[in-house]
Amino acid sequence: MFLQDFLDLARAKGVLAQEEFEGLQYHRFSDDLRRYLRGTVVLGDMLVFGYPKIARILSLEGGIPRHIKGPFYVEEKADGYNVRVVKVEDRILALTRGGFVCPFTTDRLPDLGDFEAFFRDHPHMVIAGEVVGPGNPYNEAYPPGVEDVAFLAFDLFPVGSWRPLSPLARYAILEKYAIPQVRSFGQFSPTPEGLDGLKALLRSLNREGVEGVVIKPQGGRRRFKYVTPFINIFDIEFSSHLLAELPGEFFIQRVIRLALSMAELGLEGGEELGRRLGAAFLRGFGSAVEEFRARKKVTWTFFLRMRSRDRVALLLRHLNRASRHVRVSLVRLEREGDYWRVVLEKRFLRSTGFLASALGGSFYFD
Ligand code: ATP
Repeated sequence: MFLQDFLDLARAKGVLAQEEFEGLQYHRFSDDLRRYLRGTVVLGDMLVFGYPKIARILSLEGGIPRHIKGPFYVEEKADGYNVRVVKVEDRILALTRGGFVCPFTTDRLPDLGDFEAFFRDHPHMVIAGEVVGPGNPYNEAYPPGVEDVAFLAFDLFPVGSWRPLSPLARYAILEKYAIPQVRSFGQFSPTPEGLDGLKALLRSLNREGVEGVVIKPQGGRRRFKYVTPFINIFDIEFSSHLLAELPGEFFIQRVIRLALSMAELGLEGGEELGRRLGAAFLRGFGSAVEEFRARKKVTWTFFLRMRSRDRVALLLRHLNRASRHVRVSLVRLEREGDYWRVVLEKRFLRSTGFLASALGGSFYFD
């Protein structure tokens, strides 16, 4: 199907959104349409596929021999947010999972890798990667180890294709341009010895505070993710301030994953684990209650650095479009060397509303 017919079909199905970034017009898929996933972007005559979903397995012993027949690569699952980096005419842009040009990441790309050199030689490739670190506008929680933000590539796709290069091919290409990549733990096999090695790796990643691994068969297309016990407690700790608004399933899934991975990795949690899990649930929500009592709102503060002041305004607009339940405002903007130091406040309207009603004495029947 020609690009124009395809756009017409997407428009007719109501999944095509027209967007603009600094004068550049583009289209974004707001939902899946056949094999074109939400987040697919059309920039001029370039089609950039949405980043595919990764299947989760809850058991290495059960899942790996069942789904993987040959050797596979194991990589760190970096904990941040997903971007696809592309070159359009003379601009290098970062696209979010939802298919928006991200004003923050695009602004900071020159700090995150030598993308110019890469795209000079590979103008028709898309680099997918995770932006990690505390200085970002999306994630409240971030594992330790990075100051500000960093980019870690984990896939390469040709423009117009949804098939990633094999891990080995990608390692070699990106190494040449010194584009940072997620850690690779090398090749494993789906044998009992391979599984023992993988479990030992996961025990050590758990101690390090790493989110988990992504398992990528060398030839195959389907990838799998498996997370460490640690990340479940960490996620609950950082999300429980929104206990009143996140779906209960968010928390239940993490308790299930925690129990299953502790058992599979042979880890003993005992009393201490119980205490940590309980505290993870209570501390966050307790702090939301305290904040509401003191300031009449539930918020989270983000500290970033950006190069362009105009893009700070674009970022605010972008974040305020992302959800009807979150309002983002600029608290401070100061010059700091070559950067703008930006302080943003996200106000969570549902939690704020819930606490206003609960602490205001509303009653309900349950
Ligand atoms: P999904 O995209 O699988 O439906 P999700 O959006 O909730 O789920 P996660 O459960 O965190 O995201 O897992 C998938 C994400 O992990 C990918 O979209 C990608 O951003 C991130 N990721 C981190 N490290 C890697 C890696 N080495 N290979 C592939 N993806 C990775």
